[in-house]
Amino acid sequence: MNLTLNRTDLIRSESLLDGAWVAASDGRRLEVINPATGDTIGQVPDCSAEDGRAAVDAAQRAFGLFRHTVARDRAALLMRWHALVLANAEDLARLMSLEQGKPLAESRTEVAYGASYISWFAEEAKRGGGDIIPEQHANHRLLVIKQPVGVVAAITPWNFPMAMLARKIAPAIAAGCAVVCKPAEDTPLTALAMAALLQEAGAPAGLVNVLTTSRERAAGLADTWLEDFRVRKISFTGSTPVGKHLARQSADTLKRLSLELGGNAPFIVFEDADLDAAVAGLMVAKFRNAGQTCICPNRVYVHQGVYERFIDKLAARVGSLTIGPATSGAEIGPLINARAVDKVESHLQDALGRGAKIVVGGGRHHCAEAPNGHFFTPTVVADVDASMRMSCEETFGPLVPVTPFSTDEEVIALANDTPYGLAAYFYSRDIDRVWQVAEAIEAGMVAVNDGALSTEIAPFGGIKESGYGREGSRYGLDEYLNIKYIRHGNLAARQPA
Ligand code: NAP
Repeated sequence: MNLTLNRTDLIRSESLLDGAWVAASDGRRLEVINPATGDTIGQVPDCSAEDGRAAVDAAQRAFGLFRHTVARDRAALLMRWHALVLANAEDLARLMSLEQGKPLAESRTEVAYGASYISWFAEEAKRGGGDIIPEQHANHRLLVIKQPVGVVAAITPWNFPMAMLARKIAPAIAAGCAVVCKPAEDTPLTALAMAALLQEAGAPAGLVNVLTTSRERAAGLADTWLEDFRVRKISFTGSTPVGKHLARQSADTLKRLSLELGGNAPFIVFEDADLDAAVAGLMVAKFRNAGQTCICPNRVYVHQGVYERFIDKLAARVGSLTIGPATSGAEIGPLINARAVDKVESHLQDALGRGAKIVVGGGRHHCAEAPNGHFFTPTVVADVDASMRMSCEETFGPLVPVTPFSTDEEVIALANDTPYGLAAYFYSRDIDRVWQVAEAIEAGMVAVNDGALSTEIAPFGGIKESGYGREGSRYGLDEYLNIKYIRHGNLAARQPA
């Protein structure tokens, strides 16, 4: 399978700042590694705090003009970006597979998914109207208008490098905001390619600035944005500890925050479930991106009456998954880096030490085609209990822990016994149970008899320590808008005609 790009100019080696492609001010660079092979596939700037300040200067200038644009023009800009993303979808997908490792089919799906947020918010831009409030006095008029919050800092993770960026930048532009953006150290190339296409679509200089940086410098760069009063909003997708840090550090300037953080999703199979459908749903939800998704099931609870049958069916499917680099057409790619593999392995060892049993898989995978890749064999572990690390922490890998339960009350208590509250899944054909469980589960998103949740038309986001704010849907634009109430008094009182 070929991962070379048709448009090699989409592989950028500089950051986008104030409409220009630039190196870091101190010249530092950072290597981009293919996680399947360990090969260096590019170099990008390792931007500093000083670059971060320059990006806010540029964004603030751009915002001064862009805030006055009309919704129809902002929508048109987004639709031009959308068209360019679709026209270059194959290149974006290949670039993503190269630096992130996910199978090409998944990268293609992500590009289509990310693009759907751009067209969605192009439409929403035209619908973000305000309100007229019925007046209490005949000589008053009361209305509500919505205005862009200002400069937005968008910080994105490596697991969905295209879609996470699109679903922050598109609503920001739709609302009339300017953006400073920092992609993850592991996946800067997809972000820069998206920025290049946005520039090609006609975005004015400084409207969206994308600065790449190393993990070592990430906090220093982001701190300048947290301290800067001109940055009025942070939109962050990433881990809960970093999200809490951002919330603490932005308190002094009271920024608006959208935090899409970590998850620990339960996946419950009741005794009346369609077991084949439940296995199929779990395969989709769990193994996308090799289990490196914030909404992937991290704890699987199966009623004891169907426990053995479910595990047999699941093991047959998991045991047949193919593993390899994106070039091989395999279903499971590498994990993002060596630390990720270490974490999955430590979760497995911890569970085995406490009495859990491997059903299928169980360890690192050596790939002859890519001997330096960070592969882990898809693994099912049975008899997991709540004391094990894989029940309490996000594993972020292709590991399925399965726990038996006997009553609805017991499993709802288990499912909710976590500080996280992002996604939850369950399978049942009992209509009363469906509603009771859907309402009792503490999560921002619940899938009933389905393994998929994400779509641009529905609100994506969590509760508890999975964060706050929603992306996509008709709620997503408001995250980037301030509400202003205007009272016009002392008008001539309305007279009968
Ligand atoms: P992460 O370490 O929190 O990193 C996310 C982003 O924050 C990266 O760009 C990272 O830069 C940056 N960052 C790290 N430390 C920072 C700091 N002190 N200040 C400002 N920015 C900082 O998370 P990750 O490992 O990349 O991603 C996995 C996590 O994201 C998981 O917990 C997953 O559940 C969560 N996630 C959530 C969602 C959702 O929608 N809820 C979606 C996807 C992922 P570097 O890469 O340079 O470190």
